[in-house]
Order: sequence, then structure tokens, then C-alpha cells
Amino acid sequence: MPLMRSWVESANSAETEFPLNNLPYGVFSVGDGDLRCGVAIGDRILDATGLEATGLLRADADADVLDAPNWNDFMELGPTAWARYRADLQRILAEDADERLQDAAVSYSVPMARATLHMPFKVAEYTDFYAGRHHATNVGTMFRGPENALPPNWLHIPIGYNGRASSVYVSGTEIRRPWGQLKSPDHDAPAFLPSRRFDIELEMGAIVGQPSDGPVSVQQADDMIFGYVLLNDWSARDIQAWEYQPLGPFQAKATATSISPWIVTKAALEPFRVSTPAREKELLPHLREPGPMLYDIPLSVSIQPENAKESTLLAHTNYKEMYYSSAQQLAHHTTAGSPMTVGDLLGSGTISGPTRPERGSLLELSWGGKEPITLATGETRTFIEDGDTLTLSGAAEGDGYRVGFGDCTGKVIAALTDPYER
Ligand code: CA
Repeated sequence: MPLMRSWVESANSAETEFPLNNLPYGVFSVGDGDLRCGVAIGDRILDATGLEATGLLRADADADVLDAPNWNDFMELGPTAWARYRADLQRILAEDADERLQDAAVSYSVPMARATLHMPFKVAEYTDFYAGRHHATNVGTMFRGPENALPPNWLHIPIGYNGRASSVYVSGTEIRRPWGQLKSPDHDAPAFLPSRRFDIELEMGAIVGQPSDGPVSVQQADDMIFGYVLLNDWSARDIQAWEYQPLGPFQAKATATSISPWIVTKAALEPFRVSTPAREKELLPHLREPGPMLYDIPLSVSIQPENAKESTLLAHTNYKEMYYSSAQQLAHHTTAGSPMTVGDLLGSGTISGPTRPERGSLLELSWGGKEPITLATGETRTFIEDGDTLTLSGAAEGDGYRVGFGDCTGKVIAALTDPYER
């Protein structure tokens, strides 16, 4: 599919992440104004809440679903309404749109540079997976040796854990270094200290837009997914190393999860669908994919120390490196009966490629802290230092256009002097 041209000139640039082909959903405010639902188009944000109130662009004939500081009520409407609203948006914003509609859309839009972006949806519950094969192999090799890198269940189910929705933040939120109980192999007793091995995990997040009641097939799971965000699963490796056996991560992942400000809809990603890699072990029938449900989305992560003029590219990889798609993860999530709800967020698991520059965490890039990384400033890093800003970027690449999410960024600030004295 080629670039779809819009009368918003900045949306026709080959560089923008927000052409008419994309139309991602977010939440914005200007100055002290209310939080409103918005749609990114080029360098502007269309005020979806305002357009709904005028009656020019409605998702539902009866209910003002966009009169809210999130897209949850809109998601609740379901795939038919999602498709109709997207078609209406494309009609209003297309190059040949009726001039009366263009004038209305101009008066209900703001320059993105003037807006503050907020959480685009209310996270109902949050689950994170461990479904990237290169990542699992790298981490497993470090901890258990190359022969036992993948646990015996890994090729049969997408491994996951239930995380916390309460610590999911929008891009731009500062992340305070956590304290936690650590035990270094060199000491006999654990100590309570600020984490010294604070890390990122480059992931995608899938947003569940329809509820389930009982087990769903992989195809039904794909139909339930509303869209995707970039996701950084901030991870305290030293807390993790001490706590993770036998039940997996807990406080190591409880500090923060950052997401990109824009939800890119499944519809916008449709041209970029690809299949999961060849199965080494055939999956049980209920987890097999009926069609391509991963996406070809180049991703990267960069670091910028405090006061540094330039950032350093740490890694570049691609969402298509995942072994399990979000649809397979969601299907697996429903197998034992837990209902899924609108606004559930599923982290893909760290996305690493097969080579060193494609590793999606500092744990892998520095090989457990043993191989420091030299930055553009000449400094070195094994894990994150206070003042570092970490940025995830990603955009699918079409014929003369890009479909992006807006950066997912976070600056790490110093731990509290004493977390119990406030
Ligand atoms: Ca993770």
C-alpha cells in the first residue's frame, strides 16, 4: 500500500511517523486544559473529543465515548465501530476531503509541539511475557550455561507472569531508581540498597480491546487486540537475581513500565503482518497460528547521559524476531479460565535479534556487566546511571511512509536517600 495523501501537508512527509496510513490514538492536554482524546496526523493532533461533541465525527450514535481522558470506552465498542471510525477519520483527513470538513478539522486540532501527552488508555491489568527466543537464550546462557539456556517448557508455551497495572506510565515520566533486597554472591547476607543493576527491556505492548469469557482461539485473540504500543519493562537485575526463584520476577519489575504515548491500531499495522519463525517443536493445536500475526517493525533503543549533547544507539532489532505473537500469548492467557478485560496490557517480552547489536537489554549488551559499552561521549556503561535517558523508537516502513508510535522515553533519577523517611 502506498502513502495515503492528506491535506495536512506534514503528514505526507516520508519522515513523519504519523501519515494518514497511521492515525494512532492518544490523550493530550494544552496548557491547563482538560485531558482529551486525540489522533496524531503529521505534526498536529486532531481533537477527537471536540469533534465528537460537534457531531461531525462520532464513534457511537448515542454515547459520547470520547468524552473521557482515555480510549477505553471507545475500545469497548468493538471491531466494527473501530473500522468505521477509522474510515471516517481517513475521509475527513484525505487530500480530497470536503472543504467544510477540512475547516472543521483545522479548528479542532492543535500543533503537537504545544501539547502534553498522557496515558492513552487506562491499564486494566498488566501481564509480561518472556517470548523472545534470542533474549531467553542469551539470559539462560548467562545463568545456566548454553546447554540449559531454554527451560524445557519454553518451546511449548509463552512464559509469562502477572505484573502491576499501577506502575505503567506514559513516555516522559521520570523513573526513580528503586531500593530492594539484594544479595551479591560475594556476601553471606542480603542487604537493602538502591539497585546497582537497573536495566531496560525493549518490548512491544498489545492492548486488549474486547473482553473474553473462557478460552479463546488464536484467531479470536487476534480479533480482540485493539492496537500496540512500545513498552520498556524497567528491570532491577540485582533484585531479580535474588528473588526470582522459585516464582519468577516480583519487585525487580515493580518500579515502572513505560509505554509510548500513541496506540498504533492493528488496522494501521495490517500491511506489515509477518509469520512467527519456524517452530522447532510443533505447538499444541490451540496455540497454532492460523495466519501471520507478528509485525515487521524495526525497533531501536538509545541512551543519553545527563548533560550529554548526543545520544548513543545501543541496539536495533525488529518485532518479527519474537517466537510467539501477542495473539498466541493472549490465547494462552485465557486457557485456564481467567477472563480478559478491555484495557489489559500484554508485554511481548524482550525483543533481541541473533547478533550482538540486536540485544534489547543492557544485561545482554554488557553480558551480565562483564563487557562495558562505550558511548558516543566516551563514557562506558554496564547498567543505567542516574541522569541517563533511555529512549525506545519504532516504526514500520511502508512504500514512502512510516507508521510509528512516538518515542518511549524515560530519565532515571537518583534513588531516595531513605525510602522509609518521607
Ligand atoms: Ca520483560
